[in-house]
Amino acid sequence: MTPRTRFLRALKREPTDTVAVGNPTSIITTDLMEQTGSYFPEAHTDADTMAQLAAAGYEILGYDTIAPYFSVQQEAAAFGCRVNWEDKEHMPTVRGHLFETPDDISIPEDYLTRPPTRAVLDALRILKRRYDDEVALIGKAMGPWTLAYHLFGLEPFLIRIIDAPDEVHAILERLMKATVMFAQAQIEAGADCITLPDHLTGDLCSAATYRDFLLPIHQQIRAQLDIPIILHICGATLDRLDYIAQTGFDAFHFDSKNDPYKTVEIAGDRIALVGHINNPETLYKGKMEQIDREVADAIQAGVAVIAPECAVPLNMDSKGLKRIVDAARAYAKGVKDDGA
Ligand SMILES: [Zn+2]
Repeated sequence: MTPRTRFLRALKREPTDTVAVGNPTSIITTDLMEQTGSYFPEAHTDADTMAQLAAAGYEILGYDTIAPYFSVQQEAAAFGCRVNWEDKEHMPTVRGHLFETPDDISIPEDYLTRPPTRAVLDALRILKRRYDDEVALIGKAMGPWTLAYHLFGLEPFLIRIIDAPDEVHAILERLMKATVMFAQAQIEAGADCITLPDHLTGDLCSAATYRDFLLPIHQQIRAQLDIPIILHICGATLDRLDYIAQTGFDAFHFDSKNDPYKTVEIAGDRIALVGHINNPETLYKGKMEQIDREVADAIQAGVAVIAPECAVPLNMDSKGLKRIVDAARAYAKGVKDDGA
């Protein structure tokens, strides 16, 4: 079974030869930049550098996936926001915001050929040529909720949930078009699936906000994209998981703040789960035995694809990321040997 087949079957909750390991979000670290000779910030805007660095996930770490979009700011930059691309130790940040009202939203005519979006599309084309059907290529398109944070500013957007709910609906309707357009272009460029980060997180918004504002939008996105979609929301999400399972998305990439058994129980057979190895404690501090325990726990609970919970800290040692793969494969082999 090729890594691509393994990963895509796992997303459909079909049997695989061993446990699938993937990264819907970035696994890039500074030591992987050094090993590939491909560095931030060039890797955000230069397609060759982006493809070269992304390939480390498969070539060096042994993941079943390659995901070339590392940050969360490519679309904000393509819309015209001022983005600071930072350096090899920091992810890009957006400065100020672009829009004040829903009527301000207009998607630039050359949205998909502006350097930050074009780099992702060209990197996917390069990777598709290089790996064909061997490895699963994961694209990424920010959902409209996350785009609204970047384009309107976090507080000015969130305050409208109470002050101007109609404007929230209008903003999401309009930004959804940018999400679908970029995702569609990535599919055409060779992506096998799309990560959709849409950070309606437990620390900022209630489950009812997800149900009333974002669930209908996610269902519309689902209807427009004929490809596996992995929704990514960090933080505590158990209280909204029943709604998330109603999106029709194939998979949900979840955080270590959520108990894997409860998560799998609520998801049922409606949505596959991807996750959820802890970043700040377990991976960042390189706790190898703890990685083994978390991997085993996730597999036992029924998590379909093992992955770090979110984009990993850039200054961690990538040995912990490799350990996830080793632990998952060893666990699967142990189960097979016991059964034999
Ligand atoms: Zn996250």
